Amino acid sequence: MTDAGTQSSVQIPMPEDLDFDIEALRRRYAAERAKRLRPDANDQYRMMAGGFDHYNDDPYVEPGFTREPLHEDIDVLVIGGGFGGQLAAVRLQEAGVTDFRIVEKAGDFGGTWYWNRYPGAQCDIEGYLYLPLLEEAGYIPKERYSFQPEIFAHAQRIGQMFNLYERACFQTRVREARWDDDAGRWEVTTDRDDVFRARFVIMSSGPLNKPKLPGVAGIEDFKGHTFHTSRWDYSYTGGDTTGNLHQLHDKRVGIIGTGATAIQSIPHLGEHAQHLYVFQRTPSSVDERNNTPTNPKWVEKLKPGWQGQRNRNFTALLDGIQLEDDQVRDKWTSPLKKLGDLLGSRDSDLSAEERALLAEIADFQKMNEIRDRVDRTVADTGTAEALKPWFGQWCKRPTFNDDYLPTFNRPNVTLVDTGGKGVERVTEHGVVVDGTEYPVDCLVFATGFEVGTAYVRRAEFDMYGRDGRSLDDAWAGGMRTFHGFLSHGFPNCFHMGLTQTGVTANFTYMLNLQSTHVAQLVAEVKRRGSTAIEPTPEAEAEWVRIMSLPNAMTEYQKACTPGYYNGEGTNEGRGFLQTTYPEGALAFYDMLARWRDEGSFEGLVVR
Ligand code: NDP
Repeated sequence: MTDAGTQSSVQIPMPEDLDFDIEALRRRYAAERAKRLRPDANDQYRMMAGGFDHYNDDPYVEPGFTREPLHEDIDVLVIGGGFGGQLAAVRLQEAGVTDFRIVEKAGDFGGTWYWNRYPGAQCDIEGYLYLPLLEEAGYIPKERYSFQPEIFAHAQRIGQMFNLYERACFQTRVREARWDDDAGRWEVTTDRDDVFRARFVIMSSGPLNKPKLPGVAGIEDFKGHTFHTSRWDYSYTGGDTTGNLHQLHDKRVGIIGTGATAIQSIPHLGEHAQHLYVFQRTPSSVDERNNTPTNPKWVEKLKPGWQGQRNRNFTALLDGIQLEDDQVRDKWTSPLKKLGDLLGSRDSDLSAEERALLAEIADFQKMNEIRDRVDRTVADTGTAEALKPWFGQWCKRPTFNDDYLPTFNRPNVTLVDTGGKGVERVTEHGVVVDGTEYPVDCLVFATGFEVGTAYVRRAEFDMYGRDGRSLDDAWAGGMRTFHGFLSHGFPNCFHMGLTQTGVTANFTYMLNLQSTHVAQLVAEVKRRGSTAIEPTPEAEAEWVRIMSLPNAMTEYQKACTPGYYNGEGTNEGRGFLQTTYPEGALAFYDMLARWRDEGSFEGLVVR
């Protein structure tokens, strides 16, 4: 690295110019990663079964709902009523396709914002970017970073404005989808005994929909109260998403997990529990939130098309494209600006190695800021030390909160750091770490959702394609798609989400572009009078090859501490960020638009 610097005509900061030791940080990161690696990787987690399967239930609906089964021939069945499914439905209507149904297992629209109602639940992406269809709906979020009630209400607003409620079947789980090649239709059955015979199926069942538990011995023996954050039990805690968990005043509470969800809920638990024990395996990087009310003067100046332009700008910056114009200027984009400042105007003069070194320096600088913030905020030096993240800024989901770190200054809050090993054991009355038992009345699982398990398992049903082959079987060796949407042998079935597409931090922007693509394809197939489309095996194989090429993110993740981004440190391609278009999200969606405009449907067989 140093050699590259000295041979170059440009000024690269030398290790001696920096106020930190690059080699020491590299060693520290590698040691922290090594501590956390475990051979069981993804298999370490417990799925919601046995005594915990009630965590899959819907606590927000009245029990006993019934309705008559539906038997319908329709154009499109959309599976999933989160923002992805809603956007698909909206874009279908825009493209002139109005004969569709939406099937959703929950009692309303909202997807992740329906299920996740834990105290403090807030979107870390600016609401002006995240809440979809703001211009169409004539709505501006009340503050810069929206909380769950506002986001959920927006999903309901979209449902009403675009007449989606009349086409939605809630509290309905798909049982199976089977392709009828003679009829050119999918026959989809549900647990309400519906039979939908749909020409097209759009799958938008969400990437983080199945809660998981830590694989810790003894959790089924615990005699106290438990719940998962995605099914927050307010009947036990009192309060609501804004906090006020007053019923915890005489309760000792333990929370396992310190990811994005825990960071938002822990300040509320700390404020109200008699005592709170936070069981930490890996600390999160916690940056400033700085939420502000929406400025009406800013709103007045917005021009038509602003939301798409703002999202494009944000996505480009996160793709690593150096732009002068940073419209969002928040904690997602500012680290990238740091690199831009280091690169200055000399980007094109740099070798790949020099550029990589500068990127690493910018990353260290950002994470030093994050670690300094812990020192500045947390009074107890031992606790502060344990709260510092020792990994690169994109290794784990960055988090943003102004109340989390100060919570550890409360006398009733104890951080129990597990040194990267996780909780040792759960007993009838408490949690054991390093041989010490911490007695608790209630245990909250902030342990996230299944990632890297089979797609069909997360979708909760299997589909059977042209030759009766199941999708589970066809994808046993990993996902196989063309452009991320269609799969050979499964005509007219479109997948949306993280299925070999272009991934970016703002999922709703990604879903918006995906749904536009899918809706236009469906409309075009109908317009041409065709019955079925599916990719050729060759086009699919080529896409699978492209998606397995190393890219900047997968290479970066190799040195990262384990987590769901990198398949728990295995880097075997099943991590959240390991099936993404190598050239970046914008390049992917621009490529799709060109492919559509070209019009020949190259790579697909159209019948
Ligand atoms: P995560 O998967 O991010 O976090 C799970 C936590 O549980 C981690 O801290 C993990 O530690 C910990 N854990 C797992 N097993 C053990 C164990 N045996 N002992 C101790 N700790 C353990 O789940 P979240 O619910 O926080 O987040 C889920 C998703 O939702 C993420 O993608 C997140 O980004 C997203 N989210 C988004 C928000 C937004 O603003 N848009 C807000 C909240 C969540 P370790 O890190 O060591 O694995």
